[in-house]
Amino acid sequence: MDGLLAEWIERALAFVFPDRCVGCGSAGALFCAACRAAARPVADEAPPAGLDAIVVAWRYEGSVRRAVHALKYQRRRRVARVLANALAASLGECPYGDALIPVPLHPERLAERGFNQSAELARHLARRWSLPVLANGLIRQRDTGHQARLRRRERQTNVAGAFAWRAPTPPPARAILVDDVLTTGATLGACAAALRAAGSRQVVALTLARALMSGDHP
Ligand SMILES: [Zn+2]
Repeated sequence: MDGLLAEWIERALAFVFPDRCVGCGSAGALFCAACRAAARPVADEAPPAGLDAIVVAWRYEGSVRRAVHALKYQRRRRVARVLANALAASLGECPYGDALIPVPLHPERLAERGFNQSAELARHLARRWSLPVLANGLIRQRDTGHQARLRRRERQTNVAGAFAWRAPTPPPARAILVDDVLTTGATLGACAAALRAAGSRQVVALTLARALMSGDHP
């Protein structure tokens, strides 16, 4: 189904059946003020190899984790907007680059889920910051499977060369990668390598949440 149509239908349903918070289940808002306030920030995350900087909003736990699960696994596309707005509110202005580039899903995974959660986040961030979203240039040229089952070193090997820039125009000089959850940063590093190979000079990343390796990846 067309993305905008799906979003419109979800909004119409929300009008008839008022929202429940994806973090705590309370009625009234899709991601309530209490859950936003309870989200613990991550300060000074060291950038993964290949990135100039990374900004991570919250720890991947509690209401944040439940909200990301609602977005990705219950396919609650509207959750992307509230999470993107909360992320943007915590960052203020976006001084990080020229255009937003979501980490792509493999086409098979995209077909399963119906949308790319990182592209949804990027779309809403771009609207707030008046930046372009380049959602089709960076492609995942092979399926890297379920990274969550792999160790750090295996993840790096698994994603090396998995991405490429395939567009008639080069990527932005200062690219902003957008992803939902940061674990080892191996995926972001591989994306950054593809962007640099195609001409980007600076690559930073914005992610919603920081997961630990101990099996708590979505
Ligand atoms: Zn809540």
